[in-house]
Amino acid sequence: MGLSVDRLLTAGSRLLLEHTHSLIALLDASGQLIEWNRSLVHWIERVPGTTTLFQLLEAQSHPRCLELLTQALAEQTAGPTILHFTNGPTGLPSSYHCHFLAAPAEQLIMLAEPIAPLDQASAEQYRQLTSDLMTKTRHLQKTRYELEKKQHLLEDALARLEQIAHVDELTQLLNRRSIMQRLSEEVERSKRYHSSVALLLLDIDHFKQINDRYGHQVGDQVLQLCASLLQRSIRGTDYLGRYGGEEFLGILPMTGATSAVELAERLCRQIADTPLTISGTITFTVTISIGVAELDPQHDTAELLITHADNALYQAKASGRNRYALWPPA
Ligand code: GH3
Ligand code: MG
Ligand code: MG
Repeated sequence: MGLSVDRLLTAGSRLLLEHTHSLIALLDASGQLIEWNRSLVHWIERVPGTTTLFQLLEAQSHPRCLELLTQALAEQTAGPTILHFTNGPTGLPSSYHCHFLAAPAEQLIMLAEPIAPLDQASAEQYRQLTSDLMTKTRHLQKTRYELEKKQHLLEDALARLEQIAHVDELTQLLNRRSIMQRLSEEVERSKRYHSSVALLLLDIDHFKQINDRYGHQVGDQVLQLCASLLQRSIRGTDYLGRYGGEEFLGILPMTGATSAVELAERLCRQIADTPLTISGTITFTVTISIGVAELDPQHDTAELLITHADNALYQAKASGRNRYALWPPA
């Protein structure tokens, strides 16, 4: 009789293990899976490379599971406690009532009974929350995109502002403030490194007559054409700015008086030899006069250098225009 009860128990246990929806496993003290029933196979296959119970659980269930293992080893049983089995990053977790029972050789048996899945209302709530979250995320992405767009606009506006602050609107050369700033820097550099720097002060001859004869608008166009012609005739390392009405300042770094004079002569010739056509109808030529001065780093300041160039310009004008003069006079 005892034997048949034993056999009944053995057969019954096997049936139960095979067909129950509960998860049953033999574990070691660290949660490593040693043996498991068929229900648990589905879970193990879903997470490739599974070797421990922890890999099947949601992260927030890990500490509770660890507690249960420790408690069961110390007190023979632990639980029931709810642990959540993961269904991947997007699925709802499945919850189980878990019992742990100490077995010989520091091993444990886990019995995890399924809890009915979330009821309809809760599931609906969960879906609603997820959908709200997605809408908010999309909204946030849109806001971010718009913010980035505004930032680009702001950067463009700043660049334009920078341009306005440094460039003369009519001629597109450096404006007076910028060319003066450059001059201070180049004079500083020359004093520190004992390098040479020369200055050209250029003035259009009889410019007032052009205004008087053809009007201010034509005068403006002549200024633009002269400015772009001069800009194209100097080196990339030189600086040209609009100093006043029809006066320009050229800064020639690393340049001594001899080279500066050569450039001044070439510029006078180039302007005088280039017919200017205004509005496709009026064609005439203008001339310029240039005062040239080289910095004496020992004694000169930027202001003094300009005064010297101005004196030379006066000299060029007085001796007939369409020419350069060098300061100090020979
Ligand atoms: P000089 O050979 O002695 O330099 O004679 P000039 O006529 O060029 O010199 P003056 O200083 O008598 O006249 C300069 C003229 O430049 C007077 C002024 O109206 C004109 N002018 C200054 N700025 C501008 C401008 O932006 N546009 C126009 N169209 N004319 C300007
Ligand atoms: Mg002038
Ligand atoms: Mg003039």
